[in-house]
Amino acid sequence: MTVNSPLTDIKGVGPELAKKFASLKLHSVADLIDYYPRRYEDYSQICKISALRPGVVTIQAKIIQAKGRYVRRGMHITEAVASDDTGSVRLVWFNQPYRATSIKPNCEYFVSGNFELRSQRLAITSPSMELVSDFPINTARIVPIYRVMKGLKSLDIRRALRSVMPAINDLEETLPPWLIENHKLLSFSEALRQMHFPENSENLQASWRRIGFEEVFSLSLASLLNKNELSSEKSIIIPFKEKLAKAFVSHLPFKLTDAQRKVIWQIYKDISSETGHVMNRLLEGDVGSGKTVVATMVALMAMEQGFQVAFMAPTELLARQHADTIHNLLKPLGYEKQVCLLVGNMKPAQKTEAYKRIKSGEARLLIGTHALIQEKVDMHKLGLVIIDEQHRFGVDQRKKLMAKAKHMPHVLTMTATPIPRSLVLTLYGDLDLSVIDTKPVGRKPIITKVCSPNSKAQLYNKIDKELEAGHQMFFVCPLIIESEISQGTKSAEAVYKELKGGVFKHRRIGLLHGKMKSVDKNKVMSDFVAHKLDILVATTVIEVGVDVPNATVVLIENADQFGLAQIHQLRGRIGRSDAQGYCYLMMSDSSVPTRRLRAVETSNDGFALAEMDLEIRGPGAIYGTMQHGQLDLRVAKLSDTKLIASARQSAQEFIEKQEDLLQYKQLKERIKTLRTVTNLN
Ligand code: ADP
Ligand code: MG
Repeated sequence: MTVNSPLTDIKGVGPELAKKFASLKLHSVADLIDYYPRRYEDYSQICKISALRPGVVTIQAKIIQAKGRYVRRGMHITEAVASDDTGSVRLVWFNQPYRATSIKPNCEYFVSGNFELRSQRLAITSPSMELVSDFPINTARIVPIYRVMKGLKSLDIRRALRSVMPAINDLEETLPPWLIENHKLLSFSEALRQMHFPENSENLQASWRRIGFEEVFSLSLASLLNKNELSSEKSIIIPFKEKLAKAFVSHLPFKLTDAQRKVIWQIYKDISSETGHVMNRLLEGDVGSGKTVVATMVALMAMEQGFQVAFMAPTELLARQHADTIHNLLKPLGYEKQVCLLVGNMKPAQKTEAYKRIKSGEARLLIGTHALIQEKVDMHKLGLVIIDEQHRFGVDQRKKLMAKAKHMPHVLTMTATPIPRSLVLTLYGDLDLSVIDTKPVGRKPIITKVCSPNSKAQLYNKIDKELEAGHQMFFVCPLIIESEISQGTKSAEAVYKELKGGVFKHRRIGLLHGKMKSVDKNKVMSDFVAHKLDILVATTVIEVGVDVPNATVVLIENADQFGLAQIHQLRGRIGRSDAQGYCYLMMSDSSVPTRRLRAVETSNDGFALAEMDLEIRGPGAIYGTMQHGQLDLRVAKLSDTKLIASARQSAQEFIEKQEDLLQYKQLKERIKTLRTVTNLN
């Protein structure tokens, strides 16, 4: 048997079982070996029966008197007595009638389970058991628990894995020997052996360290290789024109924050560098921190030099808003005529006109959605790519946009998703990072309150005062229209009707959701911007980017159904001026708010919330908001800064030593895939 053998080559795996394995995407022996346990149960301490204490226990005993019976309809109980030389204990199984007949008398078993009170007597309930052997897999050891599906048990996976032990032992080393030695890592095959059948907790830890190290090492190596390749690319030089920058700033309706100045300067330095460095920079800034004006200032320099700039946003709404905002920002300098909007929903004539202006080079700042990456778009002299809300785009889309350039363009990606620095370094090691870490002065922290439906009347009263004072509000619902299956979940259409006919009938109310026609969406949005509407009832289409500073209230219906990051984004729609902002998180019912909702109530800091989400919900919370497939860290913990630092360092060494990837077949394959998922190539 080799790693390439199908699972049916394993003794005991027939077509039926193989089908179940296949539903977990396990087809070959290699797939199986690569299927890591989700967690472990420690059954390694074998205890004498006389010394048993309530809790998880393992004993070594003979079993007698196994008897099964129905206690009532649908409830079958098997009871048995296990004894060793110190005493005996009762075993109880529920609805496993086969137990009674499968126990061999006079044989010694390992038995593991929970020792607890059962009908006023202590017993080991639902224990796993297996005949005593040198290599138990279900008991008397640290037992791996796998993610399984209906009809397939962890036990089946363990059995199959035990049968492929010879293949695991034959696994070739994947890392260079000097790395293994310097970092005292387990060999690849030893690490996998300990991963599935750990001898003790130290070995288990060593196994996770080895595999985690390799994950971060490969990811880092891939991004470093990308970075090196990029630096060999001839770059475009966009000189810094001080006068122009000063003129732009002097016309702004506000003073740039220090944080904005700092990042603008970092970017200017990058793109004007004569060392031939192509910029690939991630601009991180919490919602409302003012990234758009930064992007505009960068675009301005490129335009001045005769280059085209492609500014891509994830939604049409946002692209249109950016086009308006940037048009206004550039107007005092007379550069607004070079701005060109390109989105899917434009009249054919408008589109043709846009294509023409783009091709001739008359349009220099192209603002749009995915429409920008279409083949028909013939960019004249693309020198800078700006991507707003970068996590909303796939790697392919970014690549396509960059491919429009004759020379490698400078790239600025922007995000409000707070990604911890360690994560950025690992994930986007080929990126330089700029962070806008403060908000414009005068912004008051948003007041956030979790509310129960019972207090609705009172709340609406309060909100109406805010509207009376001339402010506007967003009313966010999870659904567009009500559906049978989602009772209790609010829909924008229903809420819109309800508000119009009820307490807010004296207010001007608009409705906005993704299923509406583009023209209608634009009309509603521009009416809201122009303050022809007081209330905008919307779905999460307004989640990213929408900027209406006069809106001071956001009410989120069914807030308990949203993720923290999403609530924070929605809340970011307000608090964009010096007026006090209010965010109301309406619960689905009057139950006690979760810790997560309480967290948004107490913190206005996206980074702190991201950390909290990480702590409460685990890494998925943050990664979930990032692109799929970017992160292939199954074992390494991003909080393990030591591991990450040393693995990154090693990737650097690997390159400095001019190691040849061809020597490491598996590593090479891995790096090849990873290079396509890290940020740039
Ligand atoms: P985001 O970083 O979320 O994209 P925006 O660029 O949309 O934020 O900016 C949010 C709001 O703050 C906009 O209305 C913008 O005009 C305003 N703004 C940006 N920079 C400043 C500043 N330095 N002082 C005051 N307001 C600013
Ligand atoms: Mg923005």
